[in-house]
Amino acid sequence: MVCALVSSDGKIIARNVFRDHRDLSADEIIAEVARHVNSLILETGVSTQDILGIGVGTCGHVHHADGMVITNSQFSDFRNYPLAEKLGELLKLPVVVDNDANAQAYAEYKFGSAQGFRNASFVTVSTGVGAGFVIDGKLFRGIGGTAGEIGHTIINPFSTVRCGCGNYGCLMAHTSGQTLPQIVRQKLLQPGTDTTIDFKNMEDYEINGELIGKGFEEGDPLCTEIVMENADYLGLGLYNLFQVIDPEVIVIGGGLTNWGDRYLDRIRKTFYRTAGRMLSHPLEIRVAALKENAAVIGAAALLLEPR
Ligand SMILES: [Zn+2]
Repeated sequence: MVCALVSSDGKIIARNVFRDHRDLSADEIIAEVARHVNSLILETGVSTQDILGIGVGTCGHVHHADGMVITNSQFSDFRNYPLAEKLGELLKLPVVVDNDANAQAYAEYKFGSAQGFRNASFVTVSTGVGAGFVIDGKLFRGIGGTAGEIGHTIINPFSTVRCGCGNYGCLMAHTSGQTLPQIVRQKLLQPGTDTTIDFKNMEDYEINGELIGKGFEEGDPLCTEIVMENADYLGLGLYNLFQVIDPEVIVIGGGLTNWGDRYLDRIRKTFYRTAGRMLSHPLEIRVAALKENAAVIGAAALLLEPR
């Protein structure tokens, strides 16, 4: 979990990171957040009168209007939890809460790769896949506040790769880090699969984006096949997004963008080939500029959003 004091032009003034919250209850985690925010205020000597408020970006389904966390796959205690209300009581400051993909989308729109556009879509590819849409300068959240769960749109109904949601063939199942062990093990069963990596003796948690990316860089045939297939699926996912939203720019963020130019070029190639002449304007596919700080800058930037 990252806490930061962010200026209204998107610069991080001070930040701290804490990791020992995995086994805490929701109330304990919120108390811990409040403690870290207060220590940032003390450290920097900023006056609370100069603080617009607290922005929170969290994974899971979030009801932005009243700051309720509906579900959270990482922290099960956050179920129908009034996060904004609880944190507001502790800090005596206005609190806004949103999904972390929305926060990242807004950060890229205000200060990153989508700056200068009024209509931008953001897709993050890391352990999971999420999206956030800025439409005419505002985040689009849908009626329940959970729009943008593009990761669970189904891209291959005949897929044998199972998503965390229980369905097969979700975009997330084919383009995120969490299913890489499944994909590797299925491919190893196919005749002719060629690899120099000893996947058979590895635990699932060792088969991650970094390992596959390293194999890809070194020319391992199986890793190359996986990265290219992944890019093709993401290219199609972005194409579907274009057909629904038609943004001016699509920004891709998240850890898997570290797979580099060959991966990104393949995504673009699949996208533009599929869109063909249906694309009537120069829609660019860009890489996120704010990297690992996007979520925390975006959470703060939510306070700048026009009401
Ligand atoms: Zn799914």
